[in-house]
Amino acid sequence: MFKKIVKLIVNPFIIFHFKNRLKFFLKKNCECNKILILDIDNTIANTWVYLKNKQSETNISYKDIPVLSKTLDHIATYYATLPIVFLSHRNVMTFNETSQWLNQKITKKEHLLVLVSNPYDKLYYINMVLKKSKVIYYDDLSYNHEKGIVFFYDKIINEVKKLDLIYYDYEFIKELNQNISHVE
Ligand SMILES: [Mg+2]
Repeated sequence: MFKKIVKLIVNPFIIFHFKNRLKFFLKKNCECNKILILDIDNTIANTWVYLKNKQSETNISYKDIPVLSKTLDHIATYYATLPIVFLSHRNVMTFNETSQWLNQKITKKEHLLVLVSNPYDKLYYINMVLKKSKVIYYDDLSYNHEKGIVFFYDKIINEVKKLDLIYYDYEFIKELNQNISHVE
């Protein structure tokens, strides 16, 4: 309950912050007519396998989460030159750790990390990018894998499918990585 109230109060400030950063990033990359939007967990990071295997009482060590290399290979093959916006439903307190992980494991080139405290806020940022550029979007939009049953953010998926973008979904990412990462 307390957490929920804090979230409600803090969330508008978080959105304001990331909205401005995204505006600036889009301005800076305005000559590029395509932008890559990448989710992190279970899209480019093998998060659920890490969570399942970790000792339950230990904290999440974000730096130790392995990559989903086949997703990265796909991106490198088709979209290597595009500016990247990482769009992740992670707590804003993980920003620095997530940022370090991205710099170490994913890309040295300039990118933007946007964190949302509510997954539905992703639609807001995607639409912001779509106003300026074409979008290629990778996102499993699923959760709960580590507990054995996969759930989907169906409402968000339906909204994404209505948008004019190229969307690589859960099934695509699962298919890509099936031989190496035990994605369910
Ligand atoms: Mg995900």
